[in-house]
Amino acid sequence: MTNPYSPISRLLHHRTQRISKGEPAALPIIASSTFHQPGDPDGTHFYGRNGNPTVEEVEEEIGIIEDADVVLFPSGMSAIASVFYAHLRPGDRMLVHSDGYYNARALLAAQLEPMGVHVQAVATADFAAADFTGVKLALIETPSNPGLDVCDIAAVAAKAKSAGTILVADNTTASPLCQRPLDLGADISVMADTKAMAGHSDILAGHVASRNGALMAPVRTWRRLAGAVVSPFDAYLLHRGLETLELRVARANANAMAIATALSGDPRVSGLRYPGLAGDPAHAVARRQMKGYGPIVSFCLESREAAEGFIERHPLAAAATSFGGVHSSAECRIRWGDRVPAGFIRFACGVEPVADLVAATLAALDKP
Ligand SMILES: *Cc1c(COP(=O)(O)O)cnc(C)c1O
Repeated sequence: MTNPYSPISRLLHHRTQRISKGEPAALPIIASSTFHQPGDPDGTHFYGRNGNPTVEEVEEEIGIIEDADVVLFPSGMSAIASVFYAHLRPGDRMLVHSDGYYNARALLAAQLEPMGVHVQAVATADFAAADFTGVKLALIETPSNPGLDVCDIAAVAAKAKSAGTILVADNTTASPLCQRPLDLGADISVMADTKAMAGHSDILAGHVASRNGALMAPVRTWRRLAGAVVSPFDAYLLHRGLETLELRVARANANAMAIATALSGDPRVSGLRYPGLAGDPAHAVARRQMKGYGPIVSFCLESREAAEGFIERHPLAAAATSFGGVHSSAECRIRWGDRVPAGFIRFACGVEPVADLVAATLAALDKP
């Protein structure tokens, strides 16, 4: 019988519905690099780089959420790298966001461009108007991290499809509970599971998802040959995080919306961005394609010094990079060379009670 319930319910009972009497209800960590495999290989497990039962269980769980085939990686960057190395060859043309996660562009500049891949950067907000003629692959990121611009995934996908371009969407900022790039026409969705999916700031992980087997086969081959495999211990922690994904995402989104609402119109703050705010330039497109607007709010204070003071005074925000964890965190993105004003803060909401986080944020804005 097919299960009519939501992906989260099916994820939670993926294991309980299949185990036999006496087996552990919790996911076992199978810590083994090698497996009993006498004689000729018979398709069962034989070596950790080729497959591990704990890792495969977590791939199936994420596959339920994505409604797609999923390959797990030890970081978001290795997931992105697998797509580049699986699908780009010398002479190919590709488009990449100019304002999304900087390491994707850094990888292209350091490794793929010297091998003869032609890379053109396009601003997230301009992607639907970009020229896809002769483009092999395009990587979009919406909402973009950290500027929070968006592009219309369905419109970009229509252009990519008619040009024969493989459209890859980095869905880390939103997470698949808030936005479903594969449903909107993207060929491949990539994510840093380091962020909301694992959700506790204790592991790095990433995944590639697609409903197109021909696009996934070379990704799987690259992982096996390059050896970019996640450990079963980290896969277990990701599984543990996934079990509370919906609860954490709902609270973090509520926190972000409440903070954005509290800061809008506040004279101490400029350049406030949150795609969930009705007045945000990204809101019209975001509302069409997102079910929730994610945990990140960005805004500027008048200087780097003012921004660092705010972060230092904030009692409920860790001074740390990354997002999607249970603790709120904040940082000045200029320290990583992002093209943002000196006083630009990326505020990443955790799961603190909403009233506490809003009160603490407003209080930290007051100069001592
Ligand atoms: C963090 C992040 C990545 C990279 O993930 P790692 O696990 O740190 O390698 C990629 N894309 C986006 C949008 C991210 O926020």
